[in-house]
Amino acid sequence: MNKIAQIFETLEYGPAPESAQPALDWLKSHGNKFGQYIDGKWTAPGKTFSSDNPATGKPLAEVTEGTAEDVDKAVKAARAAFKTWSALSGYERGKHLYAIARAIQKHSRLFAVLESLDNGKPIRESRDIDIPLVARHFYHHAGWAQHLSREFPDQVPYGVCGQIIPWNFPLLMLAWKIAPALAAGNTVILKPAEFTSLTALLFAEICDRVGLPKGVVNIVTGAGDTGQAIVGHPGIDKIAFTGSTEVGKAIRAATAGTGKGLSLELGGKSPYLVFEDADIDSAIEGLVDAIWFNQGQVCCAGSRLLVQESIEERFIEKLKKRMSSLRVGDPLDKAIDIGALVAPVQVERVRDLVKKGVAEGGSLYEPDIDLPKTGCFLRPALITNVSPANSVVTEEIFGPVLVAMSFRTPEEAVALANNTKYGLASTIWSENINLALDIAPKIKAGVVWINGTNQFDAAVGFGGYRESGFGREGGKEGMAAYLKPAWEKDLKPTVAPKAAAKAANPLDAASGIDQTAKMYVGGKQARPDSGYSTPVLGPNGAQIGEVGEGNRKDIRNAVEAARGALGWGTMAAHSRAQILYFLAENLDYRRDEFAERIRAQTGATAANAANEVAASVERLFAFAGWADKYDGAVHNPPTRAIAAAMVEPIGVMAIVAPAELPLLGSVALLAPTLAMGNPVVLVPSTSHPLSITDLYQVIETSDVPAGVINIVTGDSEVLAKTLAEHDGVDVLWFAGSADASKMVEKASIGNLKQTWTSRGLAYDFADKQKFEGDYFLRRATQVKNVWVPYGA
Ligand code: NDP
Repeated sequence: MNKIAQIFETLEYGPAPESAQPALDWLKSHGNKFGQYIDGKWTAPGKTFSSDNPATGKPLAEVTEGTAEDVDKAVKAARAAFKTWSALSGYERGKHLYAIARAIQKHSRLFAVLESLDNGKPIRESRDIDIPLVARHFYHHAGWAQHLSREFPDQVPYGVCGQIIPWNFPLLMLAWKIAPALAAGNTVILKPAEFTSLTALLFAEICDRVGLPKGVVNIVTGAGDTGQAIVGHPGIDKIAFTGSTEVGKAIRAATAGTGKGLSLELGGKSPYLVFEDADIDSAIEGLVDAIWFNQGQVCCAGSRLLVQESIEERFIEKLKKRMSSLRVGDPLDKAIDIGALVAPVQVERVRDLVKKGVAEGGSLYEPDIDLPKTGCFLRPALITNVSPANSVVTEEIFGPVLVAMSFRTPEEAVALANNTKYGLASTIWSENINLALDIAPKIKAGVVWINGTNQFDAAVGFGGYRESGFGREGGKEGMAAYLKPAWEKDLKPTVAPKAAAKAANPLDAASGIDQTAKMYVGGKQARPDSGYSTPVLGPNGAQIGEVGEGNRKDIRNAVEAARGALGWGTMAAHSRAQILYFLAENLDYRRDEFAERIRAQTGATAANAANEVAASVERLFAFAGWADKYDGAVHNPPTRAIAAAMVEPIGVMAIVAPAELPLLGSVALLAPTLAMGNPVVLVPSTSHPLSITDLYQVIETSDVPAGVINIVTGDSEVLAKTLAEHDGVDVLWFAGSADASKMVEKASIGNLKQTWTSRGLAYDFADKQKFEGDYFLRRATQVKNVWVPYGA
């Protein structure tokens, strides 16, 4: 056979190397040594560490380990720059973002080569995916800067943002963080990961070249300690983090009680579902992309294959064949599928996890393909014969390792897919649109790709459910994450309520017929587990009733009842609206009685008490009105797909109501939660709970399904702690003191629940302008982006 015929037979590729020279020359122009980029200037290098090429193990440059002083200097520079940067018109800021986008495009090859050298990812990916998406992010956000004031009226930037990113998509994660922050008018201090600082430093030079005002972007390199210094710096107003769930939890704990904004984009163990009617060849190609893109070091990697049993054997056989044709090698070779992992420690970590998987009974398949002799290379791996509890199935491996399981029915597929603490992304392959669109809403993940995978765009939000974090990057939701209401800065501390005129003696009976309100759990009144009750006093200290003293068992029962009522979220919004209207109607029917109760508890004037009831009825009306209107959008990314941004309830919400406004204080928080489909555990005001215990009868006559509203009375701070620690609660809103707010935020890290706390500030829930709109709707929902192929 002649040579060409041989090549056709074997389909062997020749080498197609990209030159590393331009990137090496750029590093040389900096003496292969970098200081920090602070206030538009390079500092002299300090104590440095080596940034190595993972494909060769050879050093590329020395990078400075950022100290607390460096961070402080950067914060001061960012603070000084914030004043003028945030005061620029949106158009002016947009022009700067546009200039960055253009400069990235102009130098895209240099960026791509440097990224592949530093991170080990194939040039095919850095050149065709990472860098074009980086430019796209800056273009997209240039537009947001200009349209901000129209789209986000009365919103202001946070101020100085600390941004900490991982090593898997160094420049792309930088773009996801910096572009929206700058568009909103914030200034930033960004810390790249220790392994991959170089493209962030090249980006700094680009900022300089395009004339970005000094101090707007500061790049501080370093390791975990530098990250900690950023998180702990009191001059920083918001932290945005992407990385491991473990560090994400540490950051949640460190920022508790500080009032800093926080968004966390964490790990995943994303399911990849293949149904028996899927286009198998496409699903295999998709899978290659899902798990071997970037060596599997992708937070949303489709690392858990779930394939329908009827096609399992055929699918796995084809997959193994395809795996054997993957090429692992020099990241700068344009014909390479899999490059180098980021560092030797990561290779070891992956190997250890694989070993553990095999020891637990998994069967490992690795194709017999060549690996380079040196460098951080691993073969693509498939582990079968695993069960849902195996470590390789539950833990994020963050390497080129796929685990495979099978399912029989769509129900089983959903159960397996959701059997994870994470919820970042998922993929569904089926030629049956009805099936795919039936499964998509059932999957607990922030992104669902149908008949495609790993699609990203600046216009489409990205972020997780559950322990994959909170907050979104990209899309309108991503912009919102860098803004806050202008009025929040004017909030004053709450005034401590006057002490009751006389201490309560639990043996003092209220006058008249004994009235001890019970709890309300699962649609029934329930006695407190403790068997104790607490007197409720009027303004002059006289006992006016008693309520049960709730404890952790009451909370457990209430959460269980709420979890049993999660179907509230899939009920038609129109039906939820009707129930809220009905609640309002029934409350209005008894307005005099409720006004009298407010008056008896607080001593409010008759007019004020009547106004509070009327405002509560109006608030229920307002959110009944929102139930079928606060919905999503359809995005049109520049690929043959649409992304439906579905607004979904988050799950079980716990509300600890404020001490003030016994009725409206609870209703203001309850109404948006219910409107958006979240079942609730409500702890009413400790001192004035009777307005809410009176509500049981209203709830019972308003067609509210059992378990949707559960009420536990008692000491609100004690109950808040139990709720914060309960993994069955997905969101906790707490109105109370600054100290208790800190406690709540700290205690919530177990399942990374989303929290809103009032931090001892006087939120005026009677203010319709502030609280009849999206302030709480946004916090009661999460957006799932469902990507669907669309158009030719
Ligand atoms: P980390 O979460 O440790 O790192 C992410 C970023 O946070 C890096 O810039 C890191 O600095 C910094 N950092 C580390 N510790 C702290 C801290 N206490 N306070 C503030 N910042 C800190 O991820 P790793 O890089 O160590 O990777 C470990 C594992 O995490 C991976 O194997 C993978 O499973 C997962 N991971 C998940 C990612 C995702 O996107 N979901 C991304 C990266 C990792 P530095 O790296 O310089 O030490």
